[in-house]
Amino acid sequence: MTPVDPAYLPVSALEVPRFAGIATCMRLPLRDRAAPAGAEIGVFGVPWDGGTTNRPGARHGPRALRDASTMIRHVNQATRAAPFHTARCADFGDATVNLTDVAHTLELVEGQAAALKAAGVVPLMMGGDHLMSLPMLRAMARGGPLGFVHFDAHTDLFDSYFGGVRYTHGTPFRRAVEEGLLDPARMIQIGIRGTSYDGEDRAFAVERGIRIVPIEEFRARGPADVMAEARDILGHAPAYLSFDIDAIDPALAPGTGTPEIGGFTTFEAQQMVRALDGADIVAGDLVEVAPPFDPSGVTAWIGASILFEILCVSATAAARRLGRAPVICEEIPEPRA
Ligand code: MN
Ligand code: MN
Repeated sequence: MTPVDPAYLPVSALEVPRFAGIATCMRLPLRDRAAPAGAEIGVFGVPWDGGTTNRPGARHGPRALRDASTMIRHVNQATRAAPFHTARCADFGDATVNLTDVAHTLELVEGQAAALKAAGVVPLMMGGDHLMSLPMLRAMARGGPLGFVHFDAHTDLFDSYFGGVRYTHGTPFRRAVEEGLLDPARMIQIGIRGTSYDGEDRAFAVERGIRIVPIEEFRARGPADVMAEARDILGHAPAYLSFDIDAIDPALAPGTGTPEIGGFTTFEAQQMVRALDGADIVAGDLVEVAPPFDPSGVTAWIGASILFEILCVSATAAARRLGRAPVICEEIPEPRA
């Protein structure tokens, strides 16, 4: 395998043990947020949980994800994708946040994502709570509304909380639709479940034409069928990928603020993200890992592994936009199935 740029390859555990050194995301080089030029994919953290409506803790997510992600190797054995060889990937550290000011934090995170975008870098955000997808979308949708594929137990389409608070982790996609950042006809939300308030969020989705796949429908149809529909809905136009860790069953991933039983297995999550290979993913996120509720660290580990899958499909998409073929590890035999 020939990397697009050896300077952007992660440190290999064949050379330095993975428990040694400074834990950057997936052991990628750490780059200065003020000078992003040169990278093609930029992971960054948002240590923020001021949008949570129940248990906080996601502010500690980026650090836990980085530590867990040191287990990630260079090649996706299932798809043979070699994302770090395919695109120049780097860790841009954490965005600055203002824990006492939601509006200011939204501006700061939008600025961080916009700076990466302006330098030609695909931003991948490590949450932090799900409100932080909104500034990502504000930065990414300046050229027009995006498609949206969303894995979550919740729609996050609610209007407001606590008597009129419009910016929480339960409202980001309601705001994004209202602001014209997402194209409702090209939105799909997968894994929705649990109790609800009154169905107002679902009514909004129906009214705007947003496709919701509840977990019961997913369970009846299976990941391949659901993701074929997702690919149809996204089409070939630019799309944003958002993964809330609470989409995974809390028996597997307990470290999150608003868990709902009856969720995805980790393998189903991997299958679904892999099925997005070929979609034009222009940015994405992995959010809601809350380390205080994750005593074994398994939730962070699942999150880091899903983030790797997101990185794989994002690297393929980035390479194709740049006119390059994605790098495949030919030494691994093609799967028979
Ligand atoms: Mn969410
Ligand atoms: Mn959720």
